This record gives sequence, C-alpha cells and structure tokens, in this order.
Amino acid sequence: MKVSFIGLGNMGFPMAQNLLKAGYELIVYNRTPEKVEPLLKQGARYAKTPLEAAKESNLVITMLSDDAALEEVVEGPNGILNGLPETGIHISASTISVDLARKLSAAHAERKQYFVSATVLGRPDAAKAAKLRILLAGHEQTRQRALPILSALGQEIFEIGDHGQEGNVVKIGVNFLIASMLEALSEAQLMVEKHGIESARFMDVVNALFQSPVYQNYGAIMTEQRFEPAGFKMKLGLKDVALAIGAAQSVQAPLPLGQLIHNHLSVGITRGYGELDWTALIRCLEHSS
Ligand code: NAP
Repeated sequence: MKVSFIGLGNMGFPMAQNLLKAGYELIVYNRTPEKVEPLLKQGARYAKTPLEAAKESNLVITMLSDDAALEEVVEGPNGILNGLPETGIHISASTISVDLARKLSAAHAERKQYFVSATVLGRPDAAKAAKLRILLAGHEQTRQRALPILSALGQEIFEIGDHGQEGNVVKIGVNFLIASMLEALSEAQLMVEKHGIESARFMDVVNALFQSPVYQNYGAIMTEQRFEPAGFKMKLGLKDVALAIGAAQSVQAPLPLGQLIHNHLSVGITRGYGELDWTALIRCLEHSS
C-alpha cells in the first residue's frame, strides 16, 4: 500500500522510516530536499511538491512545525488539497491549533476528502523506536482506515473522538502539562542547587516519587544540560504554550500559568535559545533572580 509523507524533521524522519520498515510503499516530500536522500536510498520515492505526493497515493501524512507550515502545504497552489483524490485521507500529526484542524476538516470535506488528526506524544527517540502514543480523532470509518498505518508508528493509540480538532485539544492540553512540569522542575532544581545539593540527587528523589518517563527524561536532560541538538525546539514549545492559551481563551477557560510560562519561553527566544531543547527553560529562569 502507498503512503505519502510530508515533513521530515526531527519527528517526521523516523516516523517515515518506520513506515518503510513496515513494508509500505513510501513517497516523501520535504521543503529542504536534501533531507529526503537517506530515505530514497532505503527505497522511498521523491515527490517534488506536496501536490505530487498527494496525487501519488490515497493517504498523506503530514508532520510539520506549525499552523503556517501546514496551511502552506495543504492550501497552497502546490498543496495537498489540489492533489488528493476523492475519498483520500490526510492524516495530520503536527501539533496545530484547534481552529486550523477544524478549518482543514471542512476544506477536505468540501472536496470529498477526509481529515484525520493523529497528534503524537513522545520525542524523536520514541518516534525512532515506534513507541509514540497517538491521539486519533476524526470520522469513525476514516479512523479505521488510518489505524493499521498508525500502528506501525506507535505503542498505543487513543481514539479521542469523531471530530479531528478534538485530538488537537487533547494534545495541546497534555503539552501544557509538560510545559508546567518543566517550569516547576526548573524552579525546584535551581532552588535546590542554590542550597548546595546536586540536582542529580534531587532527581533521584523526584523520580522515586513520580515514576514518570516525563520527569525522568526531562529531568536528566536538564541536569546534564543536554540542550543541543534539540529533541523538541524551544520555539516549538513556545508555539504549543501559545496554542494552549488560544484554546483556553476560545472557551473562556482559565489558564493563568500559561501566560507565565509563555513569558519565560519568550525570554529564552529573545536570548537566542529558540533552536535549543525546550528544557533550556531552566536557563531562562537562572538569570531572572
Ligand atoms: P522540526 O524538526 O523543526 O521539523 C519541522 C518540519 O516542518 C521540517 O520538515 C520542515 O522542513 C517543515 N516545515 C517548516 N516550515 C515549513 C513550510 N513553511 N513549508 C513546508 N515545510 C515546512 O520539528 P519536529 O520536532 O519534527 O516537530 C514537528 C511537529 O511535531 C510540530 O508540530 C511539533 O510541535 C510536533 N511534535 C514534536 C515533538 C518533538 O519532541 N520534537 C513531539 C511531539 C510532537 P525543513 O526541513 O525544510 O525545515
């Protein structure tokens, strides 16, 4: 079966590679064409535009940075909308706004195509190991068509609901929790260190108590200051916190912590940390007291 994959960044590349390993006939597009080379060597085919990629198969997966990137790839003159055949499916894995997911569902439906949201939890190492957790949302029958392909990418698939944007709401909510954890962990680590206690010792206690891979992985990156190369760039972290603030505002839900974290990450971007891992949030706080 043919699958087209668009967006071969930190996450998209290992995901596409796993589809090849699972035996799918893969067609790939990336804005920076050099990134497709290793996949071509492994048997993938190259599409010159998103339109060409969509025309070549009945199913396109996108994994792009943000709303602007996805809008360009879907709605641009060389975009997916113009290439995907009727009944074709667009599986959107990027973390995008609730509004854009809603808009793209309607745009695809107008062309008798389907939009499914399959946002992912897990960093590039989890993507490489096909251990992502996937939040699947969209029309029931379309979800069934997407399931076997997604099972080649992840360890667990949560079926969230019948409307694509519902998956994005849940993803944005979970990422807001991770951002809040990073803020709290940064503040706690700095306080403990200033009392002369090594943060690795502190993390032993935190991990024993919380027993979460999220605390474990992020805590280790912060303690060891492994901010480069970024698994998840701070500029994308800021994007996700902004998405949470927008999602909360649209339904008048309170999110006061969101603004605080947004301010701290914005300081980091101003200092030039945008391409560092978002755990470098601790550096933004280091100099603020
Ligand atoms: P990334 O490494 O920065 O890759 C971004 C991808 O988007 C690249 O392929 C890039 O192409 C493409 N792109 C950006 N702007 C574009 C445009 N205007 N037109 C066409 N292509 C464009 O990001 P990532 O870490 O893989 O993240 C991708 C998505 O997954 C984001 O929504 C992120 O929030 C989400 N996510 C990330 C993680 C993580 O841990 N990294 C985990 C879960 C979800 P070029 O190669 O040409 O730059």
